[in-house]
Amino acid sequence: MEVSSAQPALGRAHLSHLPQRPPVNLGFQDLTYTVTDGHISKIILRGINGEFRSGQLTAILGPSGAGKSTLLNILAGYRVNGASGLITTNGEPRDLRQFRKLSRYIMQEDLLQPLITVQEAMTLAADLKLGSDVTKGKKAVIVDEIVQLLRLDKARHTCSEKLSGGERKRLSVALELLNNPPVVFLDEPTTGLDDVASSTCVSLLKRIARGGRTVVCSLHTPSARLFAVFDHVYVVADGRCAYQGTAAGVVPFLKELHLPCPKTYNPADFIIEVSSGEYGSHVDRMVNAVENGRSQKWSVFGVEQQYEEMEMEIEQLNTGGVQKHNFKYESTAVEQFLVLCRRMFLQTIRNTEYLWLRIILHVFLGSIVAAMFTGMGNDGSKALFNFGFCFACIIAMLYTTMMPILLSFPSEVLLIKREYFNRWYGLKPYYAALIISRTPLTIFFSLIYLSIVYPLTAQPLEFPRVMMFITICILVALISESMGTVISSSLSVVNSMFVGPVVSVPLMLLSVYGIGNGDEPPPLVWRLARSCSYMRYGLEGLMAAIYGPPRDDLICPDDVQFCEFKSVRYFVKVMGMSGVSFWLDLGVLMLMLFMMNLAGYYLLRQRLSPNYAFRAIRVIGRFIKTKMSLAH
Ligand code: ADP
Ligand code: MG
Repeated sequence: MEVSSAQPALGRAHLSHLPQRPPVNLGFQDLTYTVTDGHISKIILRGINGEFRSGQLTAILGPSGAGKSTLLNILAGYRVNGASGLITTNGEPRDLRQFRKLSRYIMQEDLLQPLITVQEAMTLAADLKLGSDVTKGKKAVIVDEIVQLLRLDKARHTCSEKLSGGERKRLSVALELLNNPPVVFLDEPTTGLDDVASSTCVSLLKRIARGGRTVVCSLHTPSARLFAVFDHVYVVADGRCAYQGTAAGVVPFLKELHLPCPKTYNPADFIIEVSSGEYGSHVDRMVNAVENGRSQKWSVFGVEQQYEEMEMEIEQLNTGGVQKHNFKYESTAVEQFLVLCRRMFLQTIRNTEYLWLRIILHVFLGSIVAAMFTGMGNDGSKALFNFGFCFACIIAMLYTTMMPILLSFPSEVLLIKREYFNRWYGLKPYYAALIISRTPLTIFFSLIYLSIVYPLTAQPLEFPRVMMFITICILVALISESMGTVISSSLSVVNSMFVGPVVSVPLMLLSVYGIGNGDEPPPLVWRLARSCSYMRYGLEGLMAAIYGPPRDDLICPDDVQFCEFKSVRYFVKVMGMSGVSFWLDLGVLMLMLFMMNLAGYYLLRQRLSPNYAFRAIRVIGRFIKTKMSLAH
């Protein structure tokens, strides 16, 4: 009794505070999709047609590998290359830019921001998407409504990593519903969920559809009960349309083709089995019967009783003052930047284990380096070792900052890719927030290391020299971090972990090229090559910080016989660094930091939406690969 009285109440929990959006009916004609894989091109969708209407919940069914995800990718605009045919919205040819503002795509695997709770994720997403002209109170109401609608109350304060499969899926849906998209695509939302979770999920989707939205989801094997919930069913078999119509129409349709569905059998299973050829080759007949999706005959089958409930609900939803084309609910770049900073900050401080690990490792590394070079800073007989100390600092700065980025950024990119595709934020605010949020931490860790090694290795304790040394080290660390971003923005974890160190080695070697040769400069080619290595400037900067004039002579301990580098000037000359200017090195390092960040931004942008040059590079790459595989 309680349950049935709670049900309508929840059903009425429509989204009162959200902007109304105009309905979008989606149609496609003669949609063909071809991929070139190696030297074979493969047709995945074969001239299919169809129409998905606003207010309806549509299911795309089909055996695995039939092309469901491909169809969704193309309809959502996630994949554009290789597709031909006409896609229309409300009868007009689709304008992809405009359409991307209206549609959201929830992919099969849920990628969620780790370490933040459901409530926080929802609040952050609301702040990101809704902008400041929606008041805080109103945002809270919107979040509450959606959390209620998707039954996430119980998990409100659970961290997203600890959510169950069903909850994760519902959270992904909830996050995308925040600014009331008129079109929602979902790829296999029920796969991996148990019966109860999937039917909750589907009935919610139906309620969302009834709010005047076009909801399209692909399904693998729905139960009979689940299947009956759908308003519209689209069956893909081998890249063609084997049925389009109501769920109730499936059995009569198959009967007409002399394929009677056994009474006790699930019609969804039956049509999938038939279309995967288990009962003989009937696919051609099915495709012909629905004219590859062109025929609307079965779309009206048994639709009368559906309509009554539907019109009632839609009318109720539309009474809240319709504002047409209200797309102003987006936040500005500055707002996005601030929210993203907050999100990144939260994630950083929540990751306590990692923070402690890094602190411990920096202390450990600092202790080892300090032990190896103890007291060598002002020892004239060990000046060469002190040069080694500077080099060790540069390498420590390189690896301690670059490696964590190489490991974490590739998976972060996948997450950004989705959020960016679903228009959560622009790339500029994101990149700015990324840089701003990680810089203090890098400085902090570098300082831990430096505060151990600098005094213990007896470097000059003069304030300007200390500051110069620290500044150069931090700049090298920041450039290395950005280099990590550049490398990992377009590569997978494995490839970045390979490329990163391999690229660093020549940079390290170049930075010490020609050292010990005295003031005689190396050949021009090597000088040019050397000037590409930011570590060279780092090394010069450190040497200038420690030994730059006016520095007193070094100490020669009584027990040593041979004390070559008592004179600092002589030492610097032997190292080939007498012409070095600290400020010039500082300037070049800053410029390099800027350029590296620019490169990182550019590559990330290309990763998210490649421009023509990058597409051309990919095509050429594929061409070369094809030729190579032909040669084998
Ligand atoms: P599903 O219906 O299971 O979602 P998909 O749409 O993912 O199927 O894939 C349909 C078919 O297209 C599969 O046989 C798959 O192997 C193939 N396919 C998809 N993308 C590519 C690609 N980029 N290269 C080669 N084959 C592909
Ligand atoms: Mg799929």
